[in-house]
Amino acid sequence: MKRIALLGATGSIGRQALEIIEEHPGLELVAAASGTQEIDGLAPLTQVGGDLTDLLERAEPDVVLNAVVGFAGLPATLWALERGVDLALANKESLVSGGDLAVAAWKRGGGRLLPVDSEHSAAFQLLEGAEPETVDSLVLTASGGPFRGRGLGELADVTSSEALAHPTWSMGPKITVDSATLMNKGLELIEAHYLFELPYDRIEVVVHPTSVVHALVRFRDGASLAHLGYPDMRVPISYALTYPERAATSIEPLDLAAGLILEFRAPDLDAFPCLALARAAGEAGDTAPCVLNAANEVAVAAFLDGELPFLSIAGVVEQTLAQIDCPPVTDLAELTAIDAQARRVASARTRELVH
Ligand code: NAD
Ligand code: MG
Repeated sequence: MKRIALLGATGSIGRQALEIIEEHPGLELVAAASGTQEIDGLAPLTQVGGDLTDLLERAEPDVVLNAVVGFAGLPATLWALERGVDLALANKESLVSGGDLAVAAWKRGGGRLLPVDSEHSAAFQLLEGAEPETVDSLVLTASGGPFRGRGLGELADVTSSEALAHPTWSMGPKITVDSATLMNKGLELIEAHYLFELPYDRIEVVVHPTSVVHALVRFRDGASLAHLGYPDMRVPISYALTYPERAATSIEPLDLAAGLILEFRAPDLDAFPCLALARAAGEAGDTAPCVLNAANEVAVAAFLDGELPFLSIAGVVEQTLAQIDCPPVTDLAELTAIDAQARRVASARTRELVH
């Protein structure tokens, strides 16, 4: 029996994780947390808001599924990695912001870091058992979001409800907006860098409208392996929670006879500048990814409130990065201070840019 602590239980990932846990006799929910919604009775131990590591201390889980959204998930990520407790990680913002701290804690703790993000779950499976020197490069696929194919000039007036209408995935609001700006793929690029210890010039992003290929690895002998499946987050959630068992799910297998078109193209970095901003922040290293993430969280919230224009999300992120030094940090307290500073700068920029 695996004892699971589920953080972010009321969200899109959290609700799908509850389905998987319910279906699988080997998984037991021992603790659950949400940000604001009441979850009494969902698990033996529950917590609403507050310090999530308090709940983890009490629950002593075998696996932490971190499905919180945003930087708020970082203390729980570090808690699990430091202790060698298996971490099923959906909360990509924690690895983006705290990648250096997280990797150091992971090495000290010696536990498993099982990605739940679909592309990273796919890459994890493709790379498992591969000697690092045999790997040429990793390709992450992006659906392109609801505005795929539009040029910069056609994005000025888009509304939050248009941005929330994702073509292939049904997700929480923040990641859905990130998918529309392609910041999500930028965050995933940084996430992949830390998870797989690959340099940025060996991680490529391609647009793939149907979201059937989740990732592809090119090997040095000219062979490429791809991971295919319908876009359904219950697959990577189940994989992470039942690893290494690869338990059965009720999800339908891929039907090739029904027809399958695999289309790929390069992302339009002019119309979607967030992807290039994320790549540059990743390459700059130190706390640049943390500043990028914090500014993006502030800007996306303002866009969802109907205050900030869509194209100004990238502007807020770019100007915040330009205004902060992004020094290296040695612990969570220092990183939290940089995150807070970035939020202050981003909020000020946002106020200047509101309609
Ligand atoms: P969501 O907005 O639907 O849910 C977020 C959850 O986090 C909610 O339960 C909320 O109560 C909780 N939460 C928010 N702030 C909190 C705080 N300060 N303390 C405790 N709990 C807090 O988001 P989601 O779409 O489920 O995404 C969760 C994470 O998974 C994000 O990092 C996202 O990028 C990642 N992810 C999501 C999907 C998806 O399909 N939804 C796919 C890949 C990765
Ligand atoms: Mg993803």
